[in-house]
Amino acid sequence: MTTAATQLLFDAPIIQTLPVTGLAKLYPVSRIFCVGRNYAAHAAEMGGEVDREAPWYFTKSAQALCQSNQSVPYPPGTSNFHHEIELVIALGGPIFQGDENRAQDAIFGYACGLDMTRRDRQQDGKDARRPWSLGKDVENGAVIGEITPCTDIGPIGPQRMTLAVNGETRQDALLSDMVWTVIEIISHLSQFYHLNAGDLIMTGTPAGVGPVVAGDTITGQIDGLKPISHQLSAAE
Ligand code: MN
Repeated sequence: MTTAATQLLFDAPIIQTLPVTGLAKLYPVSRIFCVGRNYAAHAAEMGGEVDREAPWYFTKSAQALCQSNQSVPYPPGTSNFHHEIELVIALGGPIFQGDENRAQDAIFGYACGLDMTRRDRQQDGKDARRPWSLGKDVENGAVIGEITPCTDIGPIGPQRMTLAVNGETRQDALLSDMVWTVIEIISHLSQFYHLNAGDLIMTGTPAGVGPVVAGDTITGQIDGLKPISHQLSAAE
């Protein structure tokens, strides 16, 4: 026998949202998928190499989302907190087991993102062959800027992506350096998930990752997209 429960035990979690360039409505965030090792030079600096077998993924919870222009505390549990600038795909429609032609239609837009990483905890996971959750699913560790509709940026390829810490450039690459294209990633990921509007995909970072400390300001930009800014304050 089912009961007709109509009330929640406690307040439902807040739906995380992102602003959209030129629109008054917000983009509600569902899932955050992240591509691992999608730039050859970054794979090399991490002591690995890329292959063309298949892209692979980890996830961040939507509650880890942090909008641009926020100041957040340096996180607990790390002494080697790293920046990773990435192109973020914002999906706008459903795709399940779709080919690359279908993948383009599922894209709503793009944004600049920071995959903030406890590198020491990620390394612990690698060493012990355990998951990366403590390294990657960091509170306020999915920093994502304003979404630009894909019709306003055009095909992804030649755009330049840069990241600076306190004004000093640390990462500088072209989106055409990605091992797996946005279309290939969406099509591949859709073989495993019923992707839909609200799902975000962080597409991996180029070389130049490194540590940040309390007091640092991280800025990033990608040609054609809104720039991103993120400040770290003292640990709680
Ligand atoms: Mn990353």
